[in-house]
Amino acid sequence: MHVFYADHFILPLPAGHRFPMAKYGRLRERLAAECPAVQLGQALPASDGELALVHDPAYIQAIQQGTLSPAAQREIGFPWSPAMAERARRSVGATIQACRTAIGGEGMAANIAGGTHHSYADKGSGFCVFNDAAVAARLMQAEHARQHRARGPLKVAIVDLDVHQGNGTARIFANDDSVFTLSLHGEKNFPFRKEAGDLDVELPDGTGDAAYLEALERALDELVHRFEPGLVIYLAGADPHEGDRLGRLKLTFDGLEARDRRVMDWAWQRRLPLAFAMAGGYGTDMEATVQVQMNTYRVALEYHARWMALARDGDRAAVTAA
Ligand SMILES: [Zn+2]
Repeated sequence: MHVFYADHFILPLPAGHRFPMAKYGRLRERLAAECPAVQLGQALPASDGELALVHDPAYIQAIQQGTLSPAAQREIGFPWSPAMAERARRSVGATIQACRTAIGGEGMAANIAGGTHHSYADKGSGFCVFNDAAVAARLMQAEHARQHRARGPLKVAIVDLDVHQGNGTARIFANDDSVFTLSLHGEKNFPFRKEAGDLDVELPDGTGDAAYLEALERALDELVHRFEPGLVIYLAGADPHEGDRLGRLKLTFDGLEARDRRVMDWAWQRRLPLAFAMAGGYGTDMEATVQVQMNTYRVALEYHARWMALARDGDRAAVTAA
C-alpha cells in the first residue's frame, strides 16, 4: 500500500509549542519497521493551480511569501517560515497522491499527515494551513471529468472522524452537491462556532466505544441514502482516544480500531476507493497516538490486500475470457 509523507520538512516551532510534530516521523519509522507491505513515497508539493481549486489566490500568495498578518499566524497556530509553507504544500500533495493511487486501481492509499480540515478558502486555523482533503477532492473531480466525461461527475464523500468538526471543509463545500461532508465530533470541542456540513453528528463529552460506533453506523447509512460517492476521503483522527489531551471522548484502542474497520469495510463493500489522512492526535503520551494510527494502518492493509486480490482475479478473468 502506498503511503505518502512530508515529515522530513521540519517545521521549526518554538520550544514548548503544544503541537506534537514528532508524531509524524515516529509513525513513518514504525511503518517502515513493522509493516513491510507499506511502500513509503515522498509527497510532491501541490501547485498554485491545484491549491486554487479551493483557496483564494491572495491567501496562497500570503503563505508563499510570508506576508500573513500576526493575527492570521496566531489563528493557524504555527509561526510562518519557508519550511512551514513548503510542508503545507506537500501535505496537500500527499493527499492528492493518495487519492490518485486509490482511484487508479489500488483501492486504498494514505497520507501520513494531512486531514487539515480547519482550513478555509481564505484562511488557516487550528494547525491547518491548506485544506488537503478539499483540494484533493476537487482535483480528482477535474481529472475524472477529463478522462471519463461520459460517466458523469465524480462524487466525493469526506468522512471526517477527527474529534473536532471539519468546519473549513463544511464551509468550502456548503454549496457544492458533488461533495458530501460528514463529521462526527465532540459538541463541546473546538471549533466553538461550527459550520453546517451535509451531516454533522455532535457527541457529548465522555462518549465511549458503543455509543460512538452506533452513531457512526447510522451516519454511514444516512450518507449512502442521500449520496452516491465514487471516492471516499477518510480523516482517521486519533484524537477521540481516551488518552488524548484535547479529545474529550473516551474511545479505547479497540473502539478506534473498530471505527476504522467499519469505515473501511463500508467502503470495500461498495468497492469505493478510499484515501485516508491522519488528522489530529494529541495524546498525553505521544506513543499512544502513534499506536492508534498504527492500528488504522493494520486494518487498511487488510483491505488493500483485498483490493489487490480483486485486481488479480480480474486479470485472470480477462485472460480466461480471451
Ligand atoms: Zn482534531
